[in-house]
Amino acid sequence: MPEICLCLTASTMKENYAHIAAYRSYIDLVELRVDLLDPDERTQLQRNPDNVVRSFGDLRSILTVRRQQDGGAWTGTEGERLSLVRALLPGGFSWVDVEADPQGFEQRQALVREARAKGSRIIASRHYLEGVPADLSHELVRLLDIGDCAKVAARPNGVSDVLQLLRAGRSCAGPHVVVGMGSYGVPTRLLSSVLANLFTFTSPASSTLAAPGHISPDTLHDLYAHASCGQETRYFAVVGNPIAHSRSPEYHNTRFRQDGFDAVYVPVRVDDFSSFMDLACELPLQGISVTVPHKEAAARCAAHVDDGVSATGACNTLIRRDDGAYDGVNTDIEGLLRPLDGLLEGISAAMVLGAGGAARAAVFALMTCGIPVRVCNRTRSRAETLVSDLNSLCERRGVRFVPAVADDLPGTGDGTEEPPDLIVQTTSVGMHPDIDGDPIPAYRFRGSETVYDVIYTPPMTALLRRAETAGCRTINGSGMFDAQAAAQYRLFTNVLSYKGGSYGNSEGTEDLCH
Ligand code: NAP
Repeated sequence: MPEICLCLTASTMKENYAHIAAYRSYIDLVELRVDLLDPDERTQLQRNPDNVVRSFGDLRSILTVRRQQDGGAWTGTEGERLSLVRALLPGGFSWVDVEADPQGFEQRQALVREARAKGSRIIASRHYLEGVPADLSHELVRLLDIGDCAKVAARPNGVSDVLQLLRAGRSCAGPHVVVGMGSYGVPTRLLSSVLANLFTFTSPASSTLAAPGHISPDTLHDLYAHASCGQETRYFAVVGNPIAHSRSPEYHNTRFRQDGFDAVYVPVRVDDFSSFMDLACELPLQGISVTVPHKEAAARCAAHVDDGVSATGACNTLIRRDDGAYDGVNTDIEGLLRPLDGLLEGISAAMVLGAGGAARAAVFALMTCGIPVRVCNRTRSRAETLVSDLNSLCERRGVRFVPAVADDLPGTGDGTEEPPDLIVQTTSVGMHPDIDGDPIPAYRFRGSETVYDVIYTPPMTALLRRAETAGCRTINGSGMFDAQAAAQYRLFTNVLSYKGGSYGNSEGTEDLCH
């Protein structure tokens, strides 16, 4: 299991010691980022480096003075930097990070010898701040010729770069750390045992100075079960773009821990869904939650899909089968209906606002409950496409009420349309950060409507506030989130305790694992 290294990124040693104290029980070693220390602190350190290393107690330590070209903060000359590292070597750091880019490396070769003579081991490092180089595996071999551990930190520009990092890490035979910086690189930090890394770098939750995408040691340990990841661990993910805001990792990891499953669920920022599926097959991922904007691509990728996916064209869950292909399921439909349990009896007309993935789930869910639905969307043609897609399903199944496109946005027409008793709001209007947005500002609530906004950040949207003031029953999107996640969790735990079979009944169009 990779050791957890805490990067000491404060400007004073006093703050660094406070960070060590806060995370002591989670970490195995520290990396002292001397480039981030105040000049006075550096001077103090130079006077008495062994005091500092002694103060780390039984924690091993890495000495690093990171150059600006590598994402660090060192502003002096290269000669001054090497002199500083030399002056600190008597401290007895366990590791010294030496930049191994070919340009000017002869200068640093002497430093490698001196550090080894003082008992330190060498991390031979390369930093790529833009993209991942194509010949990464060869570079790792070259770095292992120089140091005792090869370290490559590169900033992926997309999920295919993350796959390259994963492959390079897995195929490297010597001690190494391969890590992706930035938001695309987060999975390489959470799955460091999959990359067979020697360490995983973390930073204090409050730090903004370490590499972007760093995770705090307690999050890595408590939420992502770092200490217990091994050969048997199975992996799950939520994918979207953006993804950092997702509540799903907390939901699923907490439940995996509570139920004693050796499973970890990670967020993956995905630009291109097909490249992501290469990563999913390679890891492999046992189950995947899919969010905006990839639900339609996920539906196209699934080998088999359930009724909900074939009706809506949107898939929010992929489940790996024995043969390595994935089945597509839509748990948004079940999620959407759960908060309406017991409330649909008196509903004779529903209005769905929006025509995206959530709207399709809402219309399908209400149709299957026998409720007449009208759809109303900013872009009318999109509402028409939604209705015609679902109408053909109604014909095939003999459903009693077929959905229709509303003549106007509620509150803006001539008032001849029957007012809805249920309004399901599925547009992104009113979602954080545009929390004052109201998709139907001209609509005057009668007070008898049930108003259901699927947005959950914020929990009280401008629309719900207005509806509540008018005396309406209101429902926010938290219940839907929890219910769709609970349905996914059931599918994930099926995979963990059962192998084989298919979850759907419709053929998909693309073969995934190629
Ligand atoms: P989507 O497929 O991108 O659809 C977005 C919808 O919002 C479209 O109908 C779009 O209209 C409309 N829209 C966007 N900006 C608008 C504006 N300024 N004025 C009027 N209409 C606008 O997204 P989605 O997957 O359906 O998700 C929609 C919302 O549901 C998001 O806020 C998402 O977080 C939420 N959601 C919640 C849950 C949950 O578990 N609670 C689950 C799924 C989704 P056009 O067609 O005219 O562009």
